[in-house]
Amino acid sequence: MNTLGLYLHVPFCLRKCPYCSFYSLAGRTDLHDRYARAISTQLRFFAEEYRDQQRPLTSIFFGGGTPTLLAPETLSRLLAECLAQFPCADGAEISIEVNPATVDAAGLHVLRRAGFNRLSIGVQSLKDSELCQLDRPHTVADAVRTFQMARAAGFDNINLDLMYGLPWQDLHAWRNTLDHALELQPEHLSIYELTIEAGTPFAQQQEQGRFSLPDEDTVLLMLETTQQALKQAGLSRYEISNYAKPGCRCRHNINYWQNGEYIGLGAGAVAFLTGTRLTAIADADQFCERLENGQEVWTDKEQLDREAAFRETVITGLRMTAGVSLAELADRFGMKAEIYYSETLHRLIRQGMLHIVHDRLQLTARGFLLADAVMAELV
Ligand code: SF4
Repeated sequence: MNTLGLYLHVPFCLRKCPYCSFYSLAGRTDLHDRYARAISTQLRFFAEEYRDQQRPLTSIFFGGGTPTLLAPETLSRLLAECLAQFPCADGAEISIEVNPATVDAAGLHVLRRAGFNRLSIGVQSLKDSELCQLDRPHTVADAVRTFQMARAAGFDNINLDLMYGLPWQDLHAWRNTLDHALELQPEHLSIYELTIEAGTPFAQQQEQGRFSLPDEDTVLLMLETTQQALKQAGLSRYEISNYAKPGCRCRHNINYWQNGEYIGLGAGAVAFLTGTRLTAIADADQFCERLENGQEVWTDKEQLDREAAFRETVITGLRMTAGVSLAELADRFGMKAEIYYSETLHRLIRQGMLHIVHDRLQLTARGFLLADAVMAELV
């Protein structure tokens, strides 16, 4: 694997969405500058610690949270520092997540000029009443305007994040969101089913019977509709939740799914280098404090042995429609999946969950629907 990604996490949000279980902080503008300085310090640490391993970055991703709550100039400076510390491969993908109404036209021009060449917009729904139920701090008009401003700023590779299976959503409403999104002609769509995570306000509201989710059959129909509509629009599914026009698959995420190496910057961010997974403290105040005091920020360091790395590569690789190459697995780990998984693998094939196409082990259409159960058998 010659790929090397860099992820920079910005944990700030305008306000906390009631379904969100990620680490993020609402209303901490006081911390923005301090956090950016801490990231610069951590970046220098990575550059020094891993100088010997350095090879060009193939992708950079600024995610969150809402990265665009930091000033465009701050984000540009952080990107310039990343590029100064780590060489970047020609044509590297450099993405940033944007939430509608958190960046204006001038800001998008600054980001494009700084070198960001891919934008991911957190749209979620194109129906105002649904955005209201999700307590998103933007309207449909804000989302469309952000997309149009991004195009005008020169972004020709744009992803939209959408969610289906929302409270009270029916098939017709979902189809409308999908059609509206396709009218914008994005290069990429990430489409997730809403899941109710324990401990979130949505989980509590659901328990209290304050909303109901669409039933299983409706959700299945939503997924089928999605696949048909996107296929017709020339966006092919390449991962459980991701669809792209030719040449526009997200290389940064593909590196994760291929279990490639990456640097992770920021509170709660994970890095995976030289077989070790490093997890930074998921507390922005402590993250800053530790870096200011020259202390380590890791709360977990896990050295993956060959077998664990092999299994992870199979599991994450199966998320993609292309699956995993059995020959590449054998080359990389010196282990054959057919022997390692033996009867489990044969059974999953017999049950129509997996198949081998040429040299590639892949989920079948049925396997994709039951992906969690299949992965649980292989983990
Ligand atoms: S904007 Fe994203 S990260 Fe922030 S609270 Fe909402 S879902 Fe979570």
